[in-house]
Amino acid sequence: MIIFKAVEALQKHLQWERAAGKSIGFVPTMGALHAGHLSLVRQAKQHADVTIASIFVNPTQFNDPKDYEKYPVTISQDIRLLEQEHADILFLPGVEEVYPSGLQAPRHYDLGFLETVLEGAYRPGHFQGVCQVVHRLLDIVAPDQMWLGQKDYQQCMVLKHMVTALRLPLEIRIAPTVREKSGLAMSSRNMRLSEAEQQQAVAIYESLNDINRGLSTCSFGELQTKAMHRLQESGFHKIDYVAIVDRDTLDAPPQERWDGRQPMVALIAAFIGDVRLIDNMVLH
Ligand code: AMP
Repeated sequence: MIIFKAVEALQKHLQWERAAGKSIGFVPTMGALHAGHLSLVRQAKQHADVTIASIFVNPTQFNDPKDYEKYPVTISQDIRLLEQEHADILFLPGVEEVYPSGLQAPRHYDLGFLETVLEGAYRPGHFQGVCQVVHRLLDIVAPDQMWLGQKDYQQCMVLKHMVTALRLPLEIRIAPTVREKSGLAMSSRNMRLSEAEQQQAVAIYESLNDINRGLSTCSFGELQTKAMHRLQESGFHKIDYVAIVDRDTLDAPPQERWDGRQPMVALIAAFIGDVRLIDNMVLH
């Protein structure tokens, strides 16, 4: 695996790969890699000639500065894991490479309704930061495909929206959420949980399963209340949302019960200690 820290050197190399007719698959990450990230690398490798992963903890997408400071950094282990997966390139830039003109956003991304609900509502500015960094990375890497995880459901929608609005010539591929045996969605933030907290955190996955099972018998309100209770009993002291919404638009359904047809997704964001976890499940 070749590690590039500088944009110019990376671009020269990629130009050369492209001239040789190679396709490029891209996996953007913030590091502290786990099996979820690695599944994206594996799938990118199956579909492209050259696989490039990036590790950059993007300061502009953290609405809470403490969350940024505490974000886990495990670079040498990350490099080892990417080498084991036979990733071809790691792009490991510093802040000044990604933002040569400073951190202030040069533009506003019009994300419409998507930015007003769920993560958009609870993390003001977050999706602007996500678009800012991914747009810049796409500009640098110019991949044929970008691989994202369903774990960040709304982020996938936002980035699809951005890529379509800016008419960027690439394909977005979404890979399923990789979970621990317990069902807990893998996340870099899990590293900040104690073993006991990791066990408590499984309640998010169990609540999503409860919602899925109860969809045809209970009202949305009942399902949400039950899920909130379960989360609270398991040690989630703050719950940002338990949402059951349209899978394609994130709109709340107008009726109280599922009509048996509307494609739905359940999404949860909640805190254990000062660690905020998110997860989702497409309902069927
Ligand atoms: P992050 O490093 O958290 O910014 O994540 C980088 C990419 O990995 C994003 O596209 C995430 O959606 C994806 N990802 C994170 N956790 C998982 C997981 N458990 N399963 C699959 N993909 C994931």
